[in-house]
Amino acid sequence: MALFERAHRVGGRLWSVPMGEGPHGGEGPHADLGAMRLHSGLRQVLDVVGEAGLTGDLVPFDFGRPENPTHVRGVTLRQRDLTDTARIPYHLAGGERGLGPGDLVLRAADALVPGFTALRRRHHEALERGDTERAARCATAFRTRRGRATVAGRPLRWTTYADALRAVLGAEAVALLHDTGGYDVVYSRENAAEQLGILFRTPPDAAYLTLRRGMQSLPLALRDRFTAAGGTLRLGHRLLRVDRAGPHHDRAPSATAPGAARRPRYCLTFALEDPEGRATGTYAHVHAHTVVLALPQGPLLRLDADGVPFTPRLRADLAAVEAVPAQKLFLLYRTAWWGALGMTRGRATTDLPLRQLWYGGTCPPPGPARDDGPALLLAAYPSGPATKTWEAAREPGTDPTDPGRDLVGWTQRLLARMHGLPRLEDPLAVRLQDWGLPPHDGAWHVWRPGHDPDEIAPRVRRPLPGEAVYIVSDCWTPDPGSIEGAVACAETVLREHLGCGRPSSS
Ligand SMILES: Cc1cc2nc3c(=O)[nH]c(=O)nc-3n(C[C@H](O)[C@H](O)[C@H](O)COP(=O)(O)OP(=O)(O)OC[C@H]3O[C@@H](n4cnc5c(N)ncnc54)[C@H](O)[C@@H]3O)c2cc1C
Repeated sequence: MALFERAHRVGGRLWSVPMGEGPHGGEGPHADLGAMRLHSGLRQVLDVVGEAGLTGDLVPFDFGRPENPTHVRGVTLRQRDLTDTARIPYHLAGGERGLGPGDLVLRAADALVPGFTALRRRHHEALERGDTERAARCATAFRTRRGRATVAGRPLRWTTYADALRAVLGAEAVALLHDTGGYDVVYSRENAAEQLGILFRTPPDAAYLTLRRGMQSLPLALRDRFTAAGGTLRLGHRLLRVDRAGPHHDRAPSATAPGAARRPRYCLTFALEDPEGRATGTYAHVHAHTVVLALPQGPLLRLDADGVPFTPRLRADLAAVEAVPAQKLFLLYRTAWWGALGMTRGRATTDLPLRQLWYGGTCPPPGPARDDGPALLLAAYPSGPATKTWEAAREPGTDPTDPGRDLVGWTQRLLARMHGLPRLEDPLAVRLQDWGLPPHDGAWHVWRPGHDPDEIAPRVRRPLPGEAVYIVSDCWTPDPGSIEGAVACAETVLREHLGCGRPSSS
C-alpha cells in the first residue's frame, strides 16, 4: 500500500507550526494554521485519536469566555454583556431581547423545525446513556420534521441558512449573530437544512478539545503507524490523472505489495514537485489495483477531466458543495499584552476585518500568560466574504506566508482600536495562511441549497460502479469542514467497499 502526497509534509489542512523560541531556548508555541478543535460529540475522530495513542494529548479548547471582548459597531463589550439589551448596540425585536447569540440560534431553529431544541437534547442525553435506539429515534424525528419544514413555501433544503434566519428572526438579531459569531452568516449560501443538521449533532453542552502539540500531531502519528506497518509514503508527488492500465502496465512500478497476485487495473500519473511546490519536470507512473482519492473538491477538480473516475454525473455531484475561503494570521509578541486587559485565553470576536482572535493562540492549550516567554495571538481569522478585504490589502506576488509590513501595521492598528490601546508593541514573528490558494482551494465546504448528502455521498464515494476507484473526503458528508467527516467517510469506504472492519485498538 502506498500513499502519495503532493506536499512535502503530511497533514493537509491539519498543520501545526512552531513559532519562535519558547522560554530557555525551547520550542516555541505552535500555531494551528488549519483545523484547531474537536468536540466531545465527534466519536469517530476521537476513536482515531485513541488508536493513534494520542488520547493523553487531548486538552480543553477555549471558545468564548465571559471576560473576553466583542467589539461591534464601534462598541467594546465583554461577552457576558451580550444578553444585556441596554448595552448591546442592536435593537432587538420584543421576544428576542435578553437572548444571547446561542439562544437566538436555538429560537430560530425551533421556529424552522418545531421541537428542535427538545429533540436535540433528548438525542444527546440518549447517546450519553448509551441508548442508541432512542438516540436514533430522536434523529429520525428531527429529519422527518426538517424534511417537512418550509420557508416562504420553499423546502428548508432549498433555502440558504441566511434566508432561513431572516425569515424567523429580526434583521438586527441576524446582524448580531453575524457580527459577534466570528463566521459569516449574512452572506452564507449554505443549505439551511444541512446547517441545522450540524447543529443537531453538536451536543448542547459540547466540551471542545484540542491536541496539546497541535492538530497535525494526529496525521503525523497515523503516518508513523502506516510506515511502521509497511506502508510506503511518497511526498512531493502531485497526482495528475488516473487511467485504466494498458497492456504494458508491468513496465511501471506497482503500488501493490511485492508478491501480491492482484493485477493492477489503474495507472496513476504523478508530477514530482520540489518543497516549494514547483514542478521538477519529472513524472512518475504507478500502477495500482485499488485507488483511493483522498482529495477535497478543488484538488479533485484539478485532475485531468478525461481520466478515471470523471463523468458528467460525478462533476455535478462534486459541485453540490461550495468551498469557503479562510485565512489565519498569527502574531508572536514578546509579552501577552492582553493580560493587562483581563484576558488570558480563548476567543474574541469583532465586526472589524479581524473577525476572530484567540489569545495565546489555540495550541498548546491557551493557558495563563507566562512572563518568561513569547506569547502567541491568532490575530485575525476571517472567512467567507471577510477574506476579500485581506486579499485586496495584500501585495500580489509576495510570499503567501508573509503578509508584509503594511498589512501587519494595519492589523496592529485594528487590534489597538478594538482593545482601546494607543499602539501595540511590534510582533517578533508573523505567519499568514491563506487556505483559498492552491493546492487547497478553500478552507472548508458547505452544501449548496437543493442538495442532499444522503443521495450524493454514496455516489461520490464510489463514482463508477464496478471500478475500484473511491473518493474519501469530508466535503460530501453531512459534516463537511470537519475531521469527523473525513474519518467517517474513510470508515464507510473501508467497510462498504474494501471489506475492512474497524481496527482493534492495540
Ligand atoms: C482554517 C481551517 C479551520 C478548520 N477548522 C476545523 C476544526 O476546528 N475542526 C475540524 O474538525 N475541522 C476543521 N477544518 C477542516 C479540516 O481541516 C478538514 O476537514 C480535514 O483536514 C480534511 O482532511 P482531508 O484529508 O480529507 O483533506 P486535506 O486535509 O485537505 O488533505 C488533502 C491532501 O491532499 C493533498 N493533495 C492535494 N492535491 C493533490 C494531488 N493532486 N496529488 C496528491 N496530493 C494532493 C494536499 O496537499 C493535502 O495534504 C478546518 C479547516 C481549515 C482550513
